[in-house]
Amino acid sequence: HGIQLEDLVQLGKIGSGNSGTVIKALHVPDSRVIAKKTIPIENKEAIKNQLLRELSIMHSVKPHANIVEFYGAFYTPSSSNEIVILMEYMDCGSLDKILATCKRSMPRENGAHTNQTWFNELSISRISSAVLQGLSYLYQDYKIIHRDIKPSNVLISSKGNVKICDFGVSRKLINSIADTFVGTSTYMSPERIQGNVYSTKGDVWSLGLMIIELLTGEFPLGGHKDTPEGILDLLQRIVNEPPPRLASTGQFSKVIVDFVNRCCVKDERERSSLQELMCHDFILMGKSLEDREFRHWCKRIKRKIKEDKMVLREEQEKAKLVKR
Ligand code: ADP
Ligand code: MG
Repeated sequence: HGIQLEDLVQLGKIGSGNSGTVIKALHVPDSRVIAKKTIPIENKEAIKNQLLRELSIMHSVKPHANIVEFYGAFYTPSSSNEIVILMEYMDCGSLDKILATCKRSMPRENGAHTNQTWFNELSISRISSAVLQGLSYLYQDYKIIHRDIKPSNVLISSKGNVKICDFGVSRKLINSIADTFVGTSTYMSPERIQGNVYSTKGDVWSLGLMIIELLTGEFPLGGHKDTPEGILDLLQRIVNEPPPRLASTGQFSKVIVDFVNRCCVKDERERSSLQELMCHDFILMGKSLEDREFRHWCKRIKRKIKEDKMVLREEQEKAKLVKR
């Protein structure tokens, strides 16, 4: 692609995670909007070179409908203590952002809190299918295990695309970021938490947790994910307590309950594989939804995100006036 950093104009911040910051940028030569992720790292020549080598693996992954396209990785000339990753921009953002926006605006829309989200079973089926396809492509063709499936790494576009990003984030990269909790995620499978060997089935566990969260609006197993103590406690409970389940009270269809039950199995050997899940009735169910309809659903989400941004801005303006 040959994107040069000099050809980029920053458009605004998208978000930040525990490893870095993502901004929206315009690639001037072809007027394309892209996402630029900046990760601060240790300033050691050897580490940096190895990192770039590992990141170049991402470059060797050929485009796929369910993988966010990678445009390149650089060290910024100004400060060599950070690494910059350029990738495709997805205009509806990540599932965690969509869920947060949904939680903020549902009371407004309904006049009362409900325990429903904008994600219905059909859209979740489509999303799960995309995640499974992306994961099996990475593994089949490149032997890459994603390792970090969570709502913030599943992105949606108003064209109706669902893609996964941040795969196989190299352990070198994780180790060179000075923060103990980088690389720790509450979506990790029990075997991963315990430091055992893991396979693509670790990502299946994460997918199961994610589906419960999209349906109910809440991370299963509760806990306080914002403090180190809370995270450690949660990880301990994932290892020691029974796996999370969707209530089978008739609120959810039998197929989705069964699908989640096959993902959220603590013993990796008994958990379903990517291939098995791709043939599950829950995934087949989503195929009845026409592409056009799913695209409409994505467009509706984008509109709602815009509306929410406007409401937030109005509220901020009002708060400013009150202060004066
Ligand atoms: P995390 O995934 O841990 O939240 P990241 O630094 O990977 O942290 O990403 C920060 C946020 O930026 C994500 O939550 C997501 O909402 C957004 N984001 C990341 N990559 C993209 C992209 N390619 N297009 C649009 N939004 C993105
Ligand atoms: Mg991410």
